[in-house]
Amino acid sequence: MALKYSNKINKIRTFALSLIFIGFIVMYVGIFFKSSMWLMTIFMLLGLLCIVASTVVYFWIGMLSTKAVQVVCPSCQRHTKMLGRVDMCMYCNESLTLDPSLEGKEFDEKYNRKQKES
Ligand SMILES: [Zn+2]
Repeated sequence: MALKYSNKINKIRTFALSLIFIGFIVMYVGIFFKSSMWLMTIFMLLGLLCIVASTVVYFWIGMLSTKAVQVVCPSCQRHTKMLGRVDMCMYCNESLTLDPSLEGKEFDEKYNRKQKES
């Protein structure tokens, strides 16, 4: 499977950022429905909702960041934050692991899921 993995914190940040954009686009679209008061209101509310959701996500990243483990990437020597047992470097997408038994293994998101069960 050609699924591209990236650092989790970065991924959530990108998601939050796109929510802001979506929010603004939806609000902008609402302006075109000026003739219909309720349609415009719905678009405005939807846009606002996206922006509110994005702030919530940003807040959530802040919470996650405090729990994230700071490690030095073996590949690019930069400080990166990782979530869970396996994650990717924020800068070079090098796979990182906190579990020595998983070291050298193919990166797999499943390792994070397994951890939750136990
Ligand atoms: Zn790196």
